[in-house]
Amino acid sequence: MSLNTPARRRRRRIQLLAVTAWRCAYCSRKISIDSMTVDHVVPRALGGAAGMANQVAACQPCNVAKGHKLLGEWKPPQPLPLVARMPRQALLAHRAAEPEAA
Ligand SMILES: [Zn+2]
Repeated sequence: MSLNTPARRRRRRIQLLAVTAWRCAYCSRKISIDSMTVDHVVPRALGGAAGMANQVAACQPCNVAKGHKLLGEWKPPQPLPLVARMPRQALLAHRAAEPEAA
């Protein structure tokens, strides 16, 4: 039995959407299970973890714009609510990866 069944994938997406109240973590735009993308807060290309602790629900334009950047290298459209909407684990992972983190 595969761990990555469509039902499991859908359940993970709903969990991510619930964290941000069905909004993009970066711009607060309303997103749906069909329109959302899964963004790795610390990009996989930069050694970020694969699991949900490093994932947020994001709209496609934000995900494309952020690309393989850390948050310090990319300014989200609405940076203020970001911290509140970001899962704590994802923030911790990001702080650990950000070179200038205090
Ligand atoms: Zn967005």
